[in-house]
Amino acid sequence: MNATHLASHLNLLKESLLEVLWPTRCIICDLPDHLICPQCLKHLPYIDYWQACKCCGAEYGQVLCCECNSMILATRGLEHYPLDGCVSVFRLTPTSRRIVTMYKDRNEKRLSLPLAHLLANIIVPAWKHDAIICPIPARPSAKRRRGFDHMETIAADLQAISNMPYSALLQTTKGGDQRVLNAKERLKNMKDSFQIKPEVDTLPARVIIIDDVLTTGSTLFAAAHTLKQAGVNEVFGATLARV
Ligand SMILES: [Zn+2]
Ligand SMILES: [Zn+2]
Repeated sequence: MNATHLASHLNLLKESLLEVLWPTRCIICDLPDHLICPQCLKHLPYIDYWQACKCCGAEYGQVLCCECNSMILATRGLEHYPLDGCVSVFRLTPTSRRIVTMYKDRNEKRLSLPLAHLLANIIVPAWKHDAIICPIPARPSAKRRRGFDHMETIAADLQAISNMPYSALLQTTKGGDQRVLNAKERLKNMKDSFQIKPEVDTLPARVIIIDDVLTTGSTLFAAAHTLKQAGVNEVFGATLARV
């Protein structure tokens, strides 16, 4: 038995042992055998694409959107909506927040695959042609604390299940803590917080950026700004949750 085989056997043994000691239970209702059981999966607070704004993805914004009209954008110092389209899987509720938190902060990395499936389901087919998936990079301190880059892991799973290639095109620059700032301050603070990784030599014409939670949109806007400045024609956004 070579070292690779031994490592994979040990890993399997570790997983079986963990399953005996701490059996998999639904992270929402505690039912055994599933990370998210079929009932809970069915009743997540999904955003209905057909009722959502086709520009920014706001729930029920299909006819009249009060989140991306010119007056609202002007208050944020924006002339037009910075993304060419945006969609989110679900509203941020205590349940959906729990899923995101369990995944990125409680080390339940197995959630990456079901979350990638949820994202794959909502990405608009028309966006996919020649598009590259690009995860919003975690701040280095957050990545160190968690031990993984949570959106890059989902991007890799998304690539595996959907044939959409992913590339981590962006890296963070300074990027302070966004949580204490209002929308305009966030945008100003974020504007220069991403840069194209130095090792990236050619950029695709079309990028779909993915992130966990859309709050004010500033993170996605800043990433789109950086990508478009560098020559990307179209930038779409897809997030798990939306405030
Ligand atoms: Zn459940
Ligand atoms: Zn809108």
